Amino acid sequence: KAKENGRNQMCFYTPAFSTHLVQNFNRVNQLRKAIEREEFELHYQPQVDAIHHKVTGVEALLRWKSSEFGMIAPSDFIPLAEENGLIVPISDWVLKEACRQLKKWQRQGLPSFTMSVNISAQHFQIQQFSKWVKKVLAEIGVAPSSICLEITESTAIQNMTYSREMMQELVDCGIRFAIDDFGTGHSSLMLLRRLPLHNVKIDKSFVSDMTGDDRDAGTIVKAVIAMSHSLGLSVIAEGVETKEQLLQLKNLNCDYIQGYLIGRPMSAEQFEDFLAAKQTES
Ligand code: C2E
Ligand code: MG
Ligand code: MG
Ligand code: MG
Repeated sequence: KAKENGRNQMCFYTPAFSTHLVQNFNRVNQLRKAIEREEFELHYQPQVDAIHHKVTGVEALLRWKSSEFGMIAPSDFIPLAEENGLIVPISDWVLKEACRQLKKWQRQGLPSFTMSVNISAQHFQIQQFSKWVKKVLAEIGVAPSSICLEITESTAIQNMTYSREMMQELVDCGIRFAIDDFGTGHSSLMLLRRLPLHNVKIDKSFVSDMTGDDRDAGTIVKAVIAMSHSLGLSVIAEGVETKEQLLQLKNLNCDYIQGYLIGRPMSAEQFEDFLAAKQTES
């Protein structure tokens, strides 16, 4: 379909488009080189329990340190990687690196916490997905129960039967699943009920609207938390930036908090310092 669009657009050839075309071609090439040169880095953002603010997990977030363009955010290259089949080698590096880092931290005697990894839709749809995950975990030697895979509603909904079977196979060996950005897609009860999930991550747009003029956002957050709890799922609020938001979420019985208020995504070293500071704090 992309090809078809491309061909159509060629009919309306404009200088602006050709510039875009060259840039895109360059970016794909740069991305390909980035994989070879290992220009990627993972940053880690803490997830804490809403009551004691104890670190219960980290989310691994991909960064591209391009020698040419500097630091690039995932939203600027993940879609490109998905369109060009580069998402598989990139995801392979991400899961391996996240596991290696977790293992390192466990060896250093850090208190145990979960490592969450974002899964791209394109990658999840590959038949070998579960086999690949199991292989990487076994290779690196981390317990499946310490890994949580984050998928979005739109990824899950593409083929519910497939999603459920693929997830169940991994859940059976101890891996956890979170539904990411909940509320931005086809948020449905059916989705939460039929998939073998552990966590629901409320999208940051609801969290930021909750304390603004938008009263509905608060009502939705309240309903999502109550609904998730009654289905036996834990709730993580993402994008928590203010104390007011934290307080409201606590009052609504939200289980876990993630956001700039607690900590920004940081390098592994920075995260170690963050943990150490937290331990002397309490
Ligand atoms: P996400 O999984 O929903 O990750 C949360 C995003 O919210 C991150 O953006 C994080 O930096 C940002 N964030 C966290 N706390 C706050 C806050 O308090 N306020 C605000 N305004 N933002 C906050 P980031 O790192 O730019 O990642 C964007 C998206 O890119 C992620 O959304 C995820 O969908 C995707 N992504 C990141 N790393 C990977 C990866 O390794 N693989 C895949 N497939 N996707 C990834
Ligand atoms: Mg995520
Ligand atoms: Mg999210
Ligand atoms: Mg998001």
